[in-house]
Amino acid sequence: MSREVRGDLKPSDVDEDGVWTLPDGSRVNLQHVEMTLPYGLGEHKVSMVMMDLTGFVDECPLCHSCPTDGPIDGFAIFLDRHYYLALRCCETLLLYEHEKNKLEDWI
Ligand SMILES: [Zn+2]
Repeated sequence: MSREVRGDLKPSDVDEDGVWTLPDGSRVNLQHVEMTLPYGLGEHKVSMVMMDLTGFVDECPLCHSCPTDGPIDGFAIFLDRHYYLALRCCETLLLYEHEKNKLEDWI
C-alpha cells in the first residue's frame, strides 16, 4: 500500500529504520511512500530504501565529508528510474537518474 505524502523530506527527519517523521508528527515508512519528482517527472513509488551507503557512495558530493570510521551520514531512496541521495551532513536530497549523471540539486 502506498500513500501520498505532502511535505518536504528532510534527511534528518528519517530514522535509521527508514521511517520518516512528518511535520505533523505522523510517521510513515519510506518504503510505502509515493514521491512526486520535480521537473514534471511524475509520481513514483519507492522501490527500495538503502539506509547504509557503504560501498555505494563513499563521500558526500557536496561537502566531501568522508568519515574514516563508517559510511557517510545519509541514505538512498530508489525509484523506478531515479534515486535520491539523502545527505544528513548537508541536509539535502540529490536527485539522480539511474546510469546517468546528476540531473539537478533539489533542496
Ligand atoms: Zn555533505
